Amino acid sequence: MIEQQHAPVTLEEMAVQELATHLRGTLLRPGDVGYEEARAVYNGMINKHPALIARCVDVADVIAAVNFAREQQLTLAVRGGGHNGPGLGTCDDGLVIDLSGMKGIRVDPVARTVRVEGGCTWGDVDHATHPFGLATPSGLISTTGVGGLTLGGGIGYLARSLGLTIDNLLGVDLVLADGSFVTASADEHADLFWAVRGGGGNFGVVTSFLFQLHPISTVYGGPMLWPFGQAAGIVKFWRNFILNAPEEINGSFGLVTVSPAPPIPEQFHLKKMCTIVWCYSGALEQAEEVFQPIRTNIPPVVDFARPMPWPVLQSLFDALYPPGLQWYWKTDFFTDLSAKAIDLYVKYGAQLPTIRSTMYLHPINGAVHRVGASETAFSFRDANFAEVIVGVDPDPANNQRMIGWARDYWMALHPYSAGGGYVNMMMDEGTDSVQAAYRDNYARLAQIKATYDPSNLFHVNQNITPMSERMRS
Ligand SMILES: Cc1cc2nc3c(=O)[nH]c(=O)nc-3n(C[C@H](O)[C@H](O)[C@H](O)COP(=O)(O)OP(=O)(O)OC[C@H]3O[C@@H](n4cnc5c(N)ncnc54)[C@H](O)[C@@H]3O)c2cc1C
Repeated sequence: MIEQQHAPVTLEEMAVQELATHLRGTLLRPGDVGYEEARAVYNGMINKHPALIARCVDVADVIAAVNFAREQQLTLAVRGGGHNGPGLGTCDDGLVIDLSGMKGIRVDPVARTVRVEGGCTWGDVDHATHPFGLATPSGLISTTGVGGLTLGGGIGYLARSLGLTIDNLLGVDLVLADGSFVTASADEHADLFWAVRGGGGNFGVVTSFLFQLHPISTVYGGPMLWPFGQAAGIVKFWRNFILNAPEEINGSFGLVTVSPAPPIPEQFHLKKMCTIVWCYSGALEQAEEVFQPIRTNIPPVVDFARPMPWPVLQSLFDALYPPGLQWYWKTDFFTDLSAKAIDLYVKYGAQLPTIRSTMYLHPINGAVHRVGASETAFSFRDANFAEVIVGVDPDPANNQRMIGWARDYWMALHPYSAGGGYVNMMMDEGTDSVQAAYRDNYARLAQIKATYDPSNLFHVNQNITPMSERMRS
């Protein structure tokens, strides 16, 4: 992170002391031991200096911190796993509610549910549920926070078979802007439950999530690789395959530069290649048969697809992406991939600016389509593909090149898209992008925002503007 001069914020000392005495967790200020580590987020491009970081350990701490921020009229940010691209889990000058100390998890193996506190990562959840042979849909990297990923939707390896993460969410406990504590589910505060399933952190601090679990233990998955020269043919095959394949099979198509490390054979090190990262969650004894048409029609040069415990697949790429790298994200949803779009994918993919930069297309058909576009806040239920273009590198000197590449790539493809992107994979792009992400659901979100957070206390997020009184009447 680049150090910069930062003017101290004037806070009423008495009030700060009072907050500190209310907390079971710790309250950190600039200069305190641990403050520098606590303010750092996953994306090294983000360098914010909060006035206060409340490391909450329970719901009472969260209530005290929300009340403090509201009463002191401080900017308030809420941090779950800290993975957010534009760093929307932190802020300059204000108060950060850091949930990373709230790691409680309780599996109910009979009801097949798991109650997860707001500071857990997906690795924490897998660790707790795997001994029971159970899992719930999450993403593709285990260090990502449950909080942000879930509240934005949650696209991962089990999307085609079990839907988005929010499609497996049974309820949330949350602290609202007025400091009150509520449960939202299909039976209680149903409007709020609708909104948190995709609407991000706009409505309150989620202190715990209740998920449905499924019997997922060993899956058949992992990456296959092909030379970059075959990219157009591979993506065409993949598109046709994934639109018609059994829902138990999931595969994300990517354009990558191969890491110079085992187990990848040396002749492919640092080569641009195309990949499909598979996850088959059906009957294992049928896996070879399911993969046979893939191996016959598009034989890969590297084939790592095999049976593996679910947590292994979930953490397969963690080491490639340690915290502190520079990240720049662009995203769009697509209903289909035209021949022209495929040409553009290959053209810009050939220009990946750094080793870790990638473009991935994640399938979101199958079970994701069984939920209607207006049944949750996540609106792109008719899209088949989620595109994510990421520039990633350790060296900030490469940022401008990476950002330029990602923007050019996205702009070239955008005319072929469904018109909006995934809130969890965009930078801080402003109201138009947020509205485009929610399409017809935006107005209802703005109405619910006005009910639960009329003064927009929770605005450090992909923000939904509360609908004004005039518009509501
Ligand atoms: C390496 C990497 C891999 C990823 N892979 C996937 C993937 O496979 N699938 C996918 O869908 N997304 C993926 N993402 C995107 C990810 O979903 C978002 O970055 C998400 O915002 C991260 O959540 P977090 O809790 O870690 O982040 P944070 O930065 O802590 O929070 C993100 C946002 O959510 C809010 N928030 C977090 N927790 C709470 C809470 N408990 N209550 C209220 N608000 C809260 C924050 O205020 C902030 O606005 C990935 C991101 C990274 C960096």
